[in-house]
Amino acid sequence: MFDVSGKVCVVTGAGRGIGHAIAMIYARHGGIVVGAARSLDELEQLKKDVEGVGGEALVVRTDVTQRGEVDALAAAAVEKYGTIDVWVNNAGGFVDGAMCDWIDVEADAMARMWTLNVSSYVYGAQAAARVMRDGGRGGSMIFISSLDALNACPGGEGPYGAAKAAITHIMQSMAVELGRYQIRVNAIAPGLVQTPLLEPYLATPEIVRQRAQYYPLGRIGQPADVANAALFMASDASSYVSGATLLVAGGAIFNSDPIRYLQALADA
Ligand code: NAD
Repeated sequence: MFDVSGKVCVVTGAGRGIGHAIAMIYARHGGIVVGAARSLDELEQLKKDVEGVGGEALVVRTDVTQRGEVDALAAAAVEKYGTIDVWVNNAGGFVDGAMCDWIDVEADAMARMWTLNVSSYVYGAQAAARVMRDGGRGGSMIFISSLDALNACPGGEGPYGAAKAAITHIMQSMAVELGRYQIRVNAIAPGLVQTPLLEPYLATPEIVRQRAQYYPLGRIGQPADVANAALFMASDASSYVSGATLLVAGGAIFNSDPIRYLQALADA
């Protein structure tokens, strides 16, 4: 059941971090990987990694903020493999100039945050949905969201959390709209995961230990934790799951930023 044998699985941001882990778990479970990222070096390494576990990968240099490039990614998958079965919207993250209190966010930075974390997911979901609908075989789309989507993120991640919250709404609407084509649309909401994205914020073991205290299971996440959930969502094991957000956050049921923010004010 937890298997994607023969499924064509597109993963954006597959060069490193969570996206790389998802691409690799699909490869190890029989999937054909179509990996997208901006860095050619990362993509070449991904291809080697997938082939190293006996898998097959097509890698396509893609900037997900450019609709034309996302459409070209979908077209490349269809041209080579005839279909798309799984589409993972994963590329995303922080944007310079928007990682501050809302009162200070510049319009331009807010727009870039939205383009990277919201518009790009829509571009990907539209391109994938059209292929899945026209192919008549259905499919699974997975939006990598965040624990930050659940509640306030004061002190730096407000605009990022708002963008992740928006994709929850888009995911749910698309799940309703696309169900008749047997296209499932779900989200995975990770808590803190140790990836290159967070290197500046998890600089020392002491900081990692402190942050782990906010997770009931006593540790922060690893890319493999998210990849395991992405395997479930892509596989037939989740064939009756659509419109859902799966928290992969070590038992955390809300983002703890408000607590830490108020504590910092009290300590100041
Ligand atoms: P990362 O920075 O380690 O990897 C992100 C990948 O996406 C990189 O390969 C990067 O080059 C690529 N990417 C970024 N912008 C792109 C663009 N415009 N076009 C194409 N590729 C682009 O980040 P990560 O931690 O693996 O994050 C992956 C996803 O998980 C993101 O959507 C992020 O918001 C989400 N997330 C991460 C965490 C965490 O704690 N790391 C927590 C919750 C959600």
